[in-house]
Amino acid sequence: MNSAGDDQDTTANATWSRMLAGNRRFAEGKPEHPWQDATTRETLIDRQNPDAAVLACSDSRVPPEIVFDAGLGDLFTVRTAGQIIDDAVLASLEYAVSKLHVSLLVVLGHEGCGAIDTAAKELDALIAEATDNPAGSLEAAAAIDDLDERIADAESIVLRTVGMSVWQAREAELEAHEDFERVHVAYTIEELVTRSEVIQDALAHDRLMIVGARYQLSTGKVEVLSF
Ligand SMILES: [Zn+2]
Repeated sequence: MNSAGDDQDTTANATWSRMLAGNRRFAEGKPEHPWQDATTRETLIDRQNPDAAVLACSDSRVPPEIVFDAGLGDLFTVRTAGQIIDDAVLASLEYAVSKLHVSLLVVLGHEGCGAIDTAAKELDALIAEATDNPAGSLEAAAAIDDLDERIADAESIVLRTVGMSVWQAREAELEAHEDFERVHVAYTIEELVTRSEVIQDALAHDRLMIVGARYQLSTGKVEVLSF
């Protein structure tokens, strides 16, 4: 009889549909720039009630409000290079979930992400260093028993997070940059759920839906990822 979960699911799906419709407008060059006027600003002075939280890359070409043609009060956004998670990111997203009661959390990667480039180079360097093989090849990497630990213990946060995603993609025999980007979104979602009890709890009680997406710089479209 408890339909609260279903309602929340409907809300999250409706929110996501609305965001994707906004993205279509943006990609077609017909944005409406909704809710960006003075009246909206005034109605939001004392409260905010965003529908969704978005964890996205800081890349200047990927601002969620513009990409989803959204307005003031619509999206609670957290952005770091390569949408890397740290304690501050987790705390911010947990605030959105537990205090603002967003029903949807979008993890948004993108085409041409520089953090992925950096991580792939750092991973190659780590493999090269561990094997004395300057090419840092996949075959060389296979000879390192504890590569996972070496990545996890790396000093560079880019290597520990994005680099781990790149390594997981390579282990799955994916070598394309765009696949690294997709795997990194999946890995980031996994990390969010693993590291946050607040998020685990919201998912378990059907109060939250998480979706992964990849923004295509070349088309303006957001590609919905399924894992
Ligand atoms: Zn990026």
